[in-house]
Amino acid sequence: MPLLELRSVSTGYSGNRVLHDVNLILNEGEIVTLVGANGAGKSTVVKTISGLMKPESGQILLDGAPIGDLPPSDRLRRGIAHVPEGRQVFLGMTVRDNLDLGAYSMTVPDHGEHMDAIWKLFPVLHKRLSDIAGNFSGGQQQMLAIARGLMSKPRILLLDEPSLGIAPLLVSEIFRLIATLRDKGFSILLAEQNARLALTIADRGYVFQNGRIHLSGSANDLLNSPEVAERYLGVGSAAVSSEAASLVLASRLRAALNIGA
Ligand code: ATP
Repeated sequence: MPLLELRSVSTGYSGNRVLHDVNLILNEGEIVTLVGANGAGKSTVVKTISGLMKPESGQILLDGAPIGDLPPSDRLRRGIAHVPEGRQVFLGMTVRDNLDLGAYSMTVPDHGEHMDAIWKLFPVLHKRLSDIAGNFSGGQQQMLAIARGLMSKPRILLLDEPSLGIAPLLVSEIFRLIATLRDKGFSILLAEQNARLALTIADRGYVFQNGRIHLSGSANDLLNSPEVAERYLGVGSAAVSSEAASLVLASRLRAALNIGA
């Protein structure tokens, strides 16, 4: 049974339909990426899963049980954490206070152990617990937003555009972190305009176009698809016209991110 499933989900804003019959699956321990152009509907999918938006029709299932009518707080308690687009950390508050807000739903007894695991993943935040988040770079704020999402010990992390507005060097670091989180057992849904990076770390992907799933498949297959290359990777179909060339491209990206095949 999939960990999370959307069955024929449609929704929109004030009567304007934006998502049309979206069917997708996230299995335990996967990174699944949603890619597509600006306005394709990726954030709307994420918001519908976390409960910020309601499906107008269709079903959202967690472990096979419908959650589409639950408020966001209940979904968080059931293990779905949303790291929103634009980070939305509290700029006037310290790192510690931002993190405490992410833990407000926690009643688990092993808080110390959990915090030790978080500090291992985010040593910089540990060193700067009393610093004001507004003094951080965009990349550091994104790290803080992800750490805040992890505070509730989620099973599923919904990451919305973690690369947005971040310096390239830190983007690589953030994507390495996301791959590490998957290796630690988190299941991750990653909405991302940077399709190349997202598909490089993902297991599977869905390509959105005008609120519909246009293509789906293994991340490797999508990276090797001339259509995806031309439209979303910005390299032109000629550059990946042979399978060998596309495999070289994918392996270079993996090497750059320092992650395995
Ligand atoms: P982006 O990367 O720009 O966030 P996206 O793929 O995540 O793109 P969405 O943000 O889900 O796309 O937007 C899908 C459509 O819904 C777009 O046409 C957008 O204009 C519209 N939309 C998004 N948010 C709202 C809103 N709050 N009110 C009305 N329409 C909205």
